[in-house]
Amino acid sequence: MRQLVEIKVKPKSVKDMKNGYPLLTKEAIDTAGMTMAEGSILRLVDSNRKYIGTAYYGLQNKGIGWVLTRKEQEKIDTKFFVKKISEAVAKRKNLYETEDTTAFRVFNGEGDGIGGLIIDFYDGFYMVSWYSEGIYSFRDDIYQALSKVVTVRGLYEKLRFNTNGQYVEQDDYVSGEKGEFPLIVLENGMKYAVDLNDGAMTGIFLDQREVRKALRDHYAKGKTVLNTFSYTGAFSVAAVLGGAIKTTSVDVAKRSLPKTIEQFAVNEIDYEAQDIKVMDVFDYFRYAARHELKFDVVVLDPPSFARTKKITFSTAKDYPKLLKDTLKITNQGGIIIASTNNASFNMKKFKSFIDKAFTESNTRYKILEEHQLPEDFTVPHNYPEFNYLKVVFIKVMS
Ligand code: SAH
Repeated sequence: MRQLVEIKVKPKSVKDMKNGYPLLTKEAIDTAGMTMAEGSILRLVDSNRKYIGTAYYGLQNKGIGWVLTRKEQEKIDTKFFVKKISEAVAKRKNLYETEDTTAFRVFNGEGDGIGGLIIDFYDGFYMVSWYSEGIYSFRDDIYQALSKVVTVRGLYEKLRFNTNGQYVEQDDYVSGEKGEFPLIVLENGMKYAVDLNDGAMTGIFLDQREVRKALRDHYAKGKTVLNTFSYTGAFSVAAVLGGAIKTTSVDVAKRSLPKTIEQFAVNEIDYEAQDIKVMDVFDYFRYAARHELKFDVVVLDPPSFARTKKITFSTAKDYPKLLKDTLKITNQGGIIIASTNNASFNMKKFKSFIDKAFTESNTRYKILEEHQLPEDFTVPHNYPEFNYLKVVFIKVMS
């Protein structure tokens, strides 16, 4: 049986919870002496025991659970999940109907009303990511609900909990048709090879869709493009399809080489005409400086944290330095596409990093475009801090 627990929200958090803040933090509630099982249903009340909302208990690095409803009578059952998933699917109607895009996010956790649950669509296949044991305890109800709302060609899942942040290798197949990987999906007419059953990531980060399109449509033609932290080279593919003269993809992971070749190949791009370097980006900066290499467009999309044998890198601390290194190998009049998915700072702070780097390099700049999460990565109303993606297109002036 699922535990039902009444929890007092501390006075200073009551207003936020009433306003619709979806995350339950340890600091927000009074749980002295209580033990709760993952997946417990929490009845949130104020100091007068007046009902505020219903949450579930599930430990994640962000908090200890998520608010599911503010309607006292609403039960958390299959019907509830059907409603949430239907609403989310309805919001993505356009994407479902767009023929030249066949991969997108269907359910974005707290933005769609259930924190800790992510559902992505890959050409008929569904990939469900579970972020706590708590939300995973609703698995049967949620899979039943999903199959009631949409036609699931094949179902895959990723467990992203009790692993100290590490992905546990497992077979991610759940039910339905087994995919033949790589599966080729379309994004604004570009092809991307994905694998839903090969480790933590699928081969493409769906949140960068609009950025890849902008690069292809407006910045690539006739340009040399350097793609750092390139992973499977998704930005390089967009650049070549947009008419780039040549791309250079740099990633330290050995697997990035075959994966990038594959992305080029499925788009019928001659990968031998492109440069793919398996190398630490920080070493590459030195290498490029030594060989006096400069680029017209540089994509900078580092992980929030990176540790190699030589360095530890955190975007919150080191982004200005990264931009200064990048500036040294960017042509005047060129473009730097600076991106970060670090949720610990906002767009304003990110722009202050950009300003710092350019000021210290005595270089003027102009911001041409800004992007955050695309529409399918729904963010809770009034709480833009959940919009973690920040991408700025910067023109390097004199
Ligand atoms: N920009 C990519 C996603 C980047 S994911 C895209 O849009 O598809 C982060 C990548 O950075 C990973 O592939 C990882 O292997 C790589 N990486 C981490 N530290 C690195 C370093 N010091 N040098 C080069 N690559 C690094």
